[in-house]
Amino acid sequence: MRVGLGYDSHRFQPPGPLVLGGVRIPFDNHLHGHSDGDAVCHALTDALLGAAGAGDIGQMFPDTDAKNLGRNSVEMLREAVERMRTMGFRVAQADVTIIAESPRMGDHREAMRKRLADALGIELARMSVKAKSNEGMGFIGRGEGIACVAIATLTQG
Ligand code: MG
Repeated sequence: MRVGLGYDSHRFQPPGPLVLGGVRIPFDNHLHGHSDGDAVCHALTDALLGAAGAGDIGQMFPDTDAKNLGRNSVEMLREAVERMRTMGFRVAQADVTIIAESPRMGDHREAMRKRLADALGIELARMSVKAKSNEGMGFIGRGEGIACVAIATLTQG
């Protein structure tokens, strides 16, 4: 069994909507980035690559490649899952924590879980999405952006 950790953060920029965990959330900002800025998918992709010892998201999807401009991050996640398969790994489970002052994630959690479980090719019970505020502290507390941490386990074969 292999365990991988991923982290990502992105800055808010108007206008909305916010795309997070592959779900469009009504909000007055989106996440600025070379791709669609989906920090949840990026953290999860890095967790997979980390577990497999296969580098990181920046190596797999360079921001110098025009193909990755404005790219749907769920597609990138699916590509990473496919790479796991070719390396002889299967995703066993994953857990994500979104750290954001706003918007509230409660209403969107289940939709994210479903979207991510589908992308990872795992049953819903093996995909966890959690969210918390940063208690008003730092860049997250000031509402400048959000961060996400993810952990994933892979099994061989
Ligand atoms: Mg990112």
